[in-house]
Amino acid sequence: MKDSLVSCDYIALATQGVQGLNPYLPGKPIEELERELGISNIVKLASNENPLGPGEAVKEALQSGVADLSRYPDGNAFLLKAALAEKYQVDQAQLIIGNGSNDVLELLGRAYLVAGESEVIYTAHSFAVYPLVTQACGAKAVVVPAKDWGNDLDAMADAITDRTRLIFVANPNNPTGTWSRREELLKFLDRVPEQVIVVLDEAYAEYVTDEAYPDGIELLKKYDNLIVTRTFSKAYGLASLRVGYSISNLAIADVLNRVRQPFNVNSFAQLAAVAALSDQEYLQKSREINSSGLEQLENAFNKLGLYFIPSVGNFISVDFQREAMPIYNELLKLGVIVRPVANYKMPTFLRVSVGLESENQKFIDALQKVL
Ligand SMILES: *Cc1c(COP(=O)(O)O)cnc(C)c1O
Repeated sequence: MKDSLVSCDYIALATQGVQGLNPYLPGKPIEELERELGISNIVKLASNENPLGPGEAVKEALQSGVADLSRYPDGNAFLLKAALAEKYQVDQAQLIIGNGSNDVLELLGRAYLVAGESEVIYTAHSFAVYPLVTQACGAKAVVVPAKDWGNDLDAMADAITDRTRLIFVANPNNPTGTWSRREELLKFLDRVPEQVIVVLDEAYAEYVTDEAYPDGIELLKKYDNLIVTRTFSKAYGLASLRVGYSISNLAIADVLNRVRQPFNVNSFAQLAAVAALSDQEYLQKSREINSSGLEQLENAFNKLGLYFIPSVGNFISVDFQREAMPIYNELLKLGVIVRPVANYKMPTFLRVSVGLESENQKFIDALQKVL
């Protein structure tokens, strides 16, 4: 949009990295589709949100926070750090709490990337925030081709140069749902020089039950250049509050703390996260709903003869072997919002988040109609 009253080119004044950025494309909000089509009963399976809604413990915790609304939150998030440190048996000073785990990814870029100099390695089709952070900081993205849609850790290690500062490894990855096994990850970490920081993004760790899935937090003892990020947005069901965290060695945490906004995590997010951590029943239910929902979707795709990438997350990407955008648009008309992934260079796929059984069924029925 060109504003004719503005004579100066303020786009051209932005840093080179920012000039080349495309803003993050979120899933379409339910209210927006309601306004556009004048329909209700919309099912949104587009942002990997928890279909269970908030748990009772969280709702109570939020109520208790209202009285302190006029106060700044605890900038050190003491209670949340204490709860996480206890749960994972780490030092509180190893923790950085973020306004979503995306916040921590941004902090890493701010702290460690030098414009025009640093290189960042990640895999093709991996989480959209990695290119955003890299580009915003003016660093060079080294995008390694995927292997079976997932991380090719050998190729990622081969891509390291003396300019490499960060490597983003999503385990599991979004939008592909692929994951790396413990032995592969260890072999990779053994090859990464100590001055290169490996960001192990475990946003969906709570959903993964396979015994070969590595627990990044365990690995922190062995690898000083590792930082693990996790979130309350997915299995803990707090996406709207924006709260996530990282665990690393003390020095990396110290660095991130220097660039962090003083009050980056609001008080409701902190209260809710503490409550959510203690509600293991909710977590268990999330897992159960997710594994049965994944099975429901896989069965439907199999019946329809559609290829999908096997996923261990709370979403699944399905391939229509033709441009998927028209299918996405037809689904919208039937009140079902899923996620196009053309921006991930997967133009023939749609990503579907796992919903409640009835929501999944509504999607399956709509898809059958569209096809
Ligand atoms: C959803 C997601 C996150 C978490 O984002 P928040 O900012 O914590 O909501 C991080 N990484 C990946 C790969 C994700 O899909």
